Amino acid sequence: MKAIRFLEPNKFSYDEVPVPEIKDDEVLVKIKAVGICGSDLELLEGEMPHQKNGYTTFPLIPGHEWSGEIVKIGDDVKGFKVGDRVVGDVSIGCGKCDFCREGKFNICPNRVVIGSYRNKDGAYAEYLNVPERHMYLIPDNLSYDEAALIETAATAYYGVKRGRVSFGETVLCIGDGSIGIMAVQCAKAAGASKVLLVGSWNEKLEIAKEVGADEVFNYHDGNIHEWVKSMTKEMGVDVVIECSGNSSAIDESLLSLKPGGRIVLLSLYWNYSFETRINDIILKDCDVIGVLASRNTFRPTLAMMGNGVIKASPLITHHHKLADFEEALNIIKGRKEMRLKMLLHP
Ligand SMILES: [Zn+2]
Ligand SMILES: [Zn+2]
Repeated sequence: MKAIRFLEPNKFSYDEVPVPEIKDDEVLVKIKAVGICGSDLELLEGEMPHQKNGYTTFPLIPGHEWSGEIVKIGDDVKGFKVGDRVVGDVSIGCGKCDFCREGKFNICPNRVVIGSYRNKDGAYAEYLNVPERHMYLIPDNLSYDEAALIETAATAYYGVKRGRVSFGETVLCIGDGSIGIMAVQCAKAAGASKVLLVGSWNEKLEIAKEVGADEVFNYHDGNIHEWVKSMTKEMGVDVVIECSGNSSAIDESLLSLKPGGRIVLLSLYWNYSFETRINDIILKDCDVIGVLASRNTFRPTLAMMGNGVIKASPLITHHHKLADFEEALNIIKGRKEMRLKMLLHP
């Protein structure tokens, strides 16, 4: 099969590799669409924490935001058949440890992550092998392209759930990428009375408004927390969902938060240590919640995408053939063209 392989920092190939073998509890999926994630690019640069500590090494087939069709099933697979349209979790737990037994497979100490952690080859390829226990059927009315955004949506769903966003609350989402705009939709669906979004691209902020953001703000136009205060009768918001990965956004989150509120951190911060208003966490008596990928949210998120409450189509801005990954990469590096989710098609 044809696949993109990351070979060394900033070097990749598109060439022929063997089709993955499947174990008895696995299925083989023919990939229809795979999203380019910011973390794929960090992987290509060799900058992921798990590359630096030796858990992941080159060469590697990346890609975890996939959708596809089952073409082969292992002897023990009972719940799926050839021809099923499917998506699957990104973190693959061992299924045996205490964390897995509690359903917390995203923090399983033995887990692999599709297309990254512990060199589990991913979906920038024609075929991918995945265990049955981490797979889900795509609702009939969702296209493969829309379904490829499930990981982004399920991560946002998980963050909103961990932040305990509830009926009538006010929410600030920071970051106008795919996760931020999915978080807006999830917060609305959870019953938030007002969802604010802060970002840096007016075109993306417009898309966020189309899918449910009540008010949007471009941080180039002024101060984030002052804007949030002006939108909330000087109170601040009940919950902040931080999706930008920008360390200065943590201070802005604390300054924008109502006392007693919750801050959900949905991004990794690439400068490992930085100063923040640590006393504000105490003085505001607030919760700061770290969120790693997602667990057990694919099924409900797919249902909500299927009934149109969470929309994926407006977030898909680019399509490329897998063979043309470099073309997509050049658009990303150029930083001139507006992009949300870019899909590759093997
Ligand atoms: Zn991703
Ligand atoms: Zn486990």
